[in-house]
Amino acid sequence: MKDLISNCFLCEEKALHIAGTEEAQVMQCINCGYVTSTKYTGTKETNEEFKKLGKDMKNWAIEENGKIWIPSVIALPVGMLYPIDVKGEMKWSFAPMVEIPEEKRKDFPNPQGGFYDKKVDTDNGKLYDKFIQGMSEVNELLKQAQSE
Ligand SMILES: [Zn+2]
Repeated sequence: MKDLISNCFLCEEKALHIAGTEEAQVMQCINCGYVTSTKYTGTKETNEEFKKLGKDMKNWAIEENGKIWIPSVIALPVGMLYPIDVKGEMKWSFAPMVEIPEEKRKDFPNPQGGFYDKKVDTDNGKLYDKFIQGMSEVNELLKQAQSE
């Protein structure tokens, strides 16, 4: 089934992807990066899922259209795009997936057995003011990864 694309309730761009039906619906804006789903229905005061969020996420969350919207965390084989606090301001960071050197893998045990050979390098993330900027870089990397 194809996603429906609508105008975003937050940034008003026609970039809001709506997937699923009423019981399990996800709305993700690829312009401003905010996302919401059925489980985030309600307000910050009444919603149980909201209470489980970390401090930064709680700060960044926005109530709109009867839902709580939070900034997306996009995990991909090439890395992770996620919101980050820079001196009290929300920015976006893209942290690349890097190979863990053989001798250091013992420090990265995989709960499912063995050790990880790759990790998201959050110390060397690249910062963006806008989600869409980070997303276009991610798309470039995905294209490169496919052609390799
Ligand atoms: Zn938006």
